[in-house]
Amino acid sequence: MLKQIGNTQIRVDHRASCHCGAVILELHLPEGLPAPHRCDCSFCKRKGAVVAAVPAVDLKVIRGESALRIYQFGKHVAEHFFCGNCGIYTHHRRSTNPQEFGFNVGCLEGVNPYDLDDVPVAEGGVWQTP
Ligand SMILES: [Zn+2]
Repeated sequence: MLKQIGNTQIRVDHRASCHCGAVILELHLPEGLPAPHRCDCSFCKRKGAVVAAVPAVDLKVIRGESALRIYQFGKHVAEHFFCGNCGIYTHHRRSTNPQEFGFNVGCLEGVNPYDLDDVPVAEGGVWQTP
């Protein structure tokens, strides 16, 4: 768990937003940021976002539910959410564990994902949180 990224402390309730601000999430991160990673599946390799995962109850859409669009493919278990206005991927229901959401670390307020060193790459959905 990461308590700080660059100069930004991870708050117990940390907000995340898309680029245009239509969508705002609140992540409950009492222990800090869970293991950030990338995924090399056919979808994630195209978007390249650094993601982390939380139990579904720990992610709330506090603004912009109506702005969100869903993309699904394959087994249609995962739900990939993105802002219908600015196109930014915000979060997704995980195919490996639908009781969890992955979210875009780059959307966290004040967080520059390039301040993270050595972000591991998950292998197409088989990656598990250590
Ligand atoms: Zn947006």
